[in-house]
Amino acid sequence: MTDRLIIACPACNTLNRAPRERLAAGKCGSCGAPLFEGHPVALDGRTFEAHAGKSDIPLLVDFWAPWCGPCKAMAPQFERAAQRLEPSVRLAKVNTDQEPDLAARYRIQGIPTVVLIQHGREIARHSGVMDAGRIESWVRQSLN
Ligand code: ZN
Repeated sequence: MTDRLIIACPACNTLNRAPRERLAAGKCGSCGAPLFEGHPVALDGRTFEAHAGKSDIPLLVDFWAPWCGPCKAMAPQFERAAQRLEPSVRLAKVNTDQEPDLAARYRIQGIPTVVLIQHGREIARHSGVMDAGRIESWVRQSLN
């Protein structure tokens, strides 16, 4: 029996069922986009739930803002972490200036803050800059 996971498409947010062992090569049944491209996906109040609550893989959200220097410093590291952690984890970014409701819901006090979510439940969070290696090891530890 094949183990199928529900994965939200990063392009159109449609929920797909994909075999676990072929996730990395999976394509969206609705829009045809690759399900994983090694890039964080930008989420807003409309698209957040598909990835945070409905997908079967954990979601790592980087809460950031354009005026935040440390956030800018961490951005390329978060990008590299996406290449290392996909397809076991989806990486996403939420602009707290544009999405104050999401920032309030997760009680974001300072940025950058990363929050690890599985099936809609927060399982870990970390505030402050991390490099790609630290992000990866922190996520893997938190999921154990
Ligand atoms: Zn799609």
